[in-house]
Amino acid sequence: CGIVGFTSFNQVLPTLLKGLEKLEYRGYDSAGVYVNDGDQGDYLVKETGRVADLERATEDKNIRGTSGIAHTRWATHGGVSVENAHPHASEDGRFYLAHNGVIENYDELRDTYLQGVKLHSQTDTEVAVQLIDKFAKEENLSAVDAFKKMIALLDGNSAYAFLLMDRQEPGVMYTAKKKSPLLIGVSDQGNVVTSDAAAMLDVTHDFIELMDDEVAIVEKDKVTLFNAQGEPITRLPFHLDIDA
Ligand code: GLU
Repeated sequence: CGIVGFTSFNQVLPTLLKGLEKLEYRGYDSAGVYVNDGDQGDYLVKETGRVADLERATEDKNIRGTSGIAHTRWATHGGVSVENAHPHASEDGRFYLAHNGVIENYDELRDTYLQGVKLHSQTDTEVAVQLIDKFAKEENLSAVDAFKKMIALLDGNSAYAFLLMDRQEPGVMYTAKKKSPLLIGVSDQGNVVTSDAAAMLDVTHDFIELMDDEVAIVEKDKVTLFNAQGEPITRLPFHLDIDA
């Protein structure tokens, strides 16, 4: 299971698919990708099986876009199916979330907050993205505040690496982690988020480590980091001196 995301000045799909292939060693049972063209168009493609199957499924769709997120899933909640593959969309298709890990109290959160919401999968992850959408809508929160509010409700034993996109701000990715690895890669072609630096070495060798309970907003020419208290912090990238 792994996550990659890329917000760029160029087309992102080939880099995302190649990144997923590099994450194959982590094991997975399905894969998916979400790409936004920044001009009202977006694409969500998911497949069970191998990354090669996902790649084939993207071929006839003429997918264009300079930002996107992709995921390989190792099922923990809900069987192996296209519906349960990530990224998961909120009800009205505004938010897209990829997640590695486990949300321990997802059934309790669903029963408390999502009574009227029709879920399309059996996953803990879909509960998280529907919560974000609900908080954004009902409390008029920004995407980052709705994301933070969802995270604050997660049981302390939960583990996650989250990567979120908001259709209303196509070039922006929101990310946070706890007990699962996540790095932000920076380059002058754009910025990436990845579970493993090895997946994104074609784009960059310069990575910022994200720590537990921090939140980052990643744009193509800017990375903004917040500590657990929500205060902006600065952390310089480290350079990885290894071959792609
Ligand atoms: N718990 C999530 C699911 O079952 C994410 C699994 C993963 O880490 O790939 O869909």
